[in-house]
Amino acid sequence: MISIPKEIQLQKATLDFLQSEQKMWIGGQQVLSQSGNTFPTLNPASGEKLANIPLANQADVDAAVRAARQAFEGAWSTKMNPAKRSRLIWKLADLMQRDLQILMELETLDNGKPLDKAKYDVLGSINHFRYYAGWATKIEGSTIPVKPGSLIYVRREPLGVVGLIVPWNFPLMMAAWKLAPALACGNCCILKPAEQTSLTALYLGRLIQEAGFPEGVVNVVTGPGLPTGDAISHHMDIDKVSFTGSTVVGRKIMEASAKSNLKKVSLELGGKSPNVVFADADLEAVKKSMLWSSFYNTGQECTLGSRIYIQRSVFEQLISHLQESAGALSLGNGLLSPDLGPLISEQQLNRVVGYIDQGLQEGAELLMGGKRCEGELESGYFLPPTIFKYREDNLKIVQEEIFGPVVVATAFDDYDEIVQRANDCRYGLAAAVWTNDISKAHRFAHDVKAGTVWINGYDLFDPAVPFGGYKESGIGREMGKSAIDLFTQEKAVWVNL
Ligand code: NAP
Ligand code: MG
Repeated sequence: MISIPKEIQLQKATLDFLQSEQKMWIGGQQVLSQSGNTFPTLNPASGEKLANIPLANQADVDAAVRAARQAFEGAWSTKMNPAKRSRLIWKLADLMQRDLQILMELETLDNGKPLDKAKYDVLGSINHFRYYAGWATKIEGSTIPVKPGSLIYVRREPLGVVGLIVPWNFPLMMAAWKLAPALACGNCCILKPAEQTSLTALYLGRLIQEAGFPEGVVNVVTGPGLPTGDAISHHMDIDKVSFTGSTVVGRKIMEASAKSNLKKVSLELGGKSPNVVFADADLEAVKKSMLWSSFYNTGQECTLGSRIYIQRSVFEQLISHLQESAGALSLGNGLLSPDLGPLISEQQLNRVVGYIDQGLQEGAELLMGGKRCEGELESGYFLPPTIFKYREDNLKIVQEEIFGPVVVATAFDDYDEIVQRANDCRYGLAAAVWTNDISKAHRFAHDVKAGTVWINGYDLFDPAVPFGGYKESGIGREMGKSAIDLFTQEKAVWVNL
């Protein structure tokens, strides 16, 4: 039995789902792992077990790949009218909308995030499916005028069987970012959620069946990086892996591709994004934004502005405001819709606390936070917002992705200095600049090495806008038309007339 705060009434369907035996989706069937092995998934707000999840090994992944290959050669891909693919994807979005509350509750229980933030994730995922439902009928090729007496045309074809490996911070949304374009393009999918958060992916498998996708078009296999993710990345009959996660594992995915069948690889990896504020900015707007660009999702978001650079004359004013507003944030069980939920796991909590200790040893000044929450919150993985002030950019806490509610802040003096410092990092996922000087804003946007730049805003996303990393933050761009390129390949056809 799971314990639920007494003021909360979960949907009966949520409870029924949690109490049912969890099964993967392979070839349109619900299956246990062939070995019968399972692993527990926990509620990070309490440490309690929510369910046992099947642990897929090589044999299960093989079965999923066979089912996906059969579907790809059979009922799906080029055999199906794209308009029908589009309708199926749209239908899936409708079913997600119908089961919005269930998906929210499962995401909150499994990941810990506040219920209203889980709602935002589910709605974002639905939007994503709808956006790519539109693309299914618009994937066009081209003709190239090379010489008289010839016709040269280029087809955009699906890749085949694609492995989709996603992290735990936005479980359903990251799955949607990959599934939606992969399906629109006519691929068949093996989705592997992170071991900490399998529940919404398994529930989504149910909706995919209900929507009427042919068997094997989407398979959901559950289990940890080893053996499950590893079996996908090394598989000889998977044509592509689309991965979102850490840079460390991203390297392993590339290595696995090189050692197996040179499957295509796209990577959305870590970040350590600079949030740069010039003194001439609208400081009230900065104050409103900086709280969430620092601590949203308890800091477990790859794009957050975890390196804060503020022009010297307004540094104290903005940092004391951030301290004050962060100090007022509530922490708690996500079902009670606090401002912040727990970190995902004990392991992640220890990792983040390790960075905090390192920062103290390296001589950074701790302005607030830094210690695991005690008392009522002790059984969950709670850490309060933590702010460091520092001078030297070479500190570990300034250079490495912490992935928790920890930001580092420093003052700067002029433009050339800040461009150099903002770019002094191996990551390049996102950046923001705040200024009312239009030229300076665009100059910075051009000078900074990041895949996304926000001017006078933060964390703005839309399915239509490409997203991905410079440098060690990744390879390829998801979203928008870019994701169509990621999930198709071009075929040139020469005709001698
Ligand atoms: P992670 O440890 O890299 O795991 C990501 C996924 O890879 C999980 O499903 C994981 O499985 C799997 N995996 C682990 N080892 C593997 C292996 N050897 N072969 C194949 N798959 C393997 O990352 P995380 O801790 O879940 O997520 C946090 C990281 O994701 C952060 O670095 C964050 O910046 C990044 N992230 C990036 C973006 C972006 O769009 N750029 C978005 C969100 C998160 P298990 O966890 O089950 O072992
Ligand atoms: Mg969990």
